[in-house]
Amino acid sequence: MISLFDMFKIGIGPSSSHTVGPMVAANTFLIDLQTQFSLETVKRIQVDLYGSLAATGKGHATDTAIILGLLGHKANQIDTTQVSTYLAPVFKQQQLILAASHQITFDYHQDIIWHVQTNLPHHPNGMSLTAYSDTGQSYQQTYYSIGGGFIVNADEFDDGTDITVDTTTDTNADTNDNITIENIPYPFASAQELLDICHQQQLSISEVMMANELALRSQEEIEQYLDEIWSVMQSCVTNGCAGEGILPGGLQVKRRAKALHQQLMQETQSTSDTNDQLMAMDWIDLYALAVNEENANGGRVVTAPTNGAAGIIPAVLHYYRDFLPNYSQQGVREFLLTSAAIGTIIKQNASISGAEVGCQGEVGSACAMAAAGMAHVLGLTPAQCANAAEIGIEHNLGLTCDPIGGLVQIPCIERNAMASVKAINAARLAKRGDGKHHVSLDKAIATMKATGEDMMDKYKETALGGLAIELSNQNTKDSDKKRIQVVDVAVSYPQC
Ligand code: SF4
Repeated sequence: MISLFDMFKIGIGPSSSHTVGPMVAANTFLIDLQTQFSLETVKRIQVDLYGSLAATGKGHATDTAIILGLLGHKANQIDTTQVSTYLAPVFKQQQLILAASHQITFDYHQDIIWHVQTNLPHHPNGMSLTAYSDTGQSYQQTYYSIGGGFIVNADEFDDGTDITVDTTTDTNADTNDNITIENIPYPFASAQELLDICHQQQLSISEVMMANELALRSQEEIEQYLDEIWSVMQSCVTNGCAGEGILPGGLQVKRRAKALHQQLMQETQSTSDTNDQLMAMDWIDLYALAVNEENANGGRVVTAPTNGAAGIIPAVLHYYRDFLPNYSQQGVREFLLTSAAIGTIIKQNASISGAEVGCQGEVGSACAMAAAGMAHVLGLTPAQCANAAEIGIEHNLGLTCDPIGGLVQIPCIERNAMASVKAINAARLAKRGDGKHHVSLDKAIATMKATGEDMMDKYKETALGGLAIELSNQNTKDSDKKRIQVVDVAVSYPQC
């Protein structure tokens, strides 16, 4: 089983695999290191980045994420507005205080080594961290950041550990959780199994998920976490609506959420526009744009289930909060539990990674998760919730991953807005039915997996196809071409 604590992680943008994962790896390394020798004896740390992390790390803050992790900051707790303050001593005085307790000299230019042409054996997102002590000892660990903020160390790959159910690198957990099937009252590995449990036990999907989570943590802890997730999502939208300027990375993408928010506020207050029946859709777009612009800007986001697709569930939840009469905190908890249940099924049977199956695995999965959550708070049955999730996936099948310049900006930011509206539509369509439908959720998930396997690599997190190259081929102004090339040289993979 995959816990809801794994499906939703509080992190930092722009990338779950290239920012959150490396920061978690640095945190983990400090813990592992202290089983070998005392932190006080460390005199130097060396960071080796490989493959995609080396090729794209500078543009996506992999380097600073690792430094922040070595300083002792955690992705779910760091004040993202203070990042430059935290980094200043490292860059100005070469002073790095390991885990906020022991100062070493850290020369950014010498102690981070970028192996752009080299991939480690198991995954393109590889990194090694090495500590040298003043007594001549050294300790090295190699980690892979496999998407969604999950990391796996080389030993786990070598041992054949099932990385899809590994939770030992939970971004938010201070202790390791060893989830065993015996502890779980209602284990399910497919949508059909989940629906059978719901039917036999007369439980909703959220109740089944909650019962399983209670095998691991107290109700209070679970509810606190759900409330925290919702709180971070709301802060993210608020921050996104306040942010302005150009997003980092070189594409010169202008942030739009603030201006759109002001426009919608004015129109909402004006009596002349009350005839616009689709005004809610503009707000849904706004919520998603706000989150994804925050993500692209390195802000605090909830990985849901990835950073690239982080806007969809918050956007749909904000719609629930602002436009439906039955909004409640308990409703949000049940929405998130329902979404997480669907996410675990997708992760177990297909993928939530653009590198494996294209954008259908990221935006498609988030759309399905949001659709099921929305269906639940609309009061629909488990079968109708599964129907909503199935619609959410079915109409994202074949969606490729082709971000321009490898940055999670175009088409990613708008794509989240489109999928948010689609998720609500899927729930509404399911509401008009009785839960029976030709294509089951399990079949849609299996089709997503098969479609991903058939998809050419250039459409799966390589930024070598689709929009990612089309813009470079257009008759753009020379200045634009130059700008795009700058990004292309540095970035070979997108950063969901
Ligand atoms: S296009 Fe690629 S990078 Fe963008 S949201 Fe989709 S999977 Fe993520």
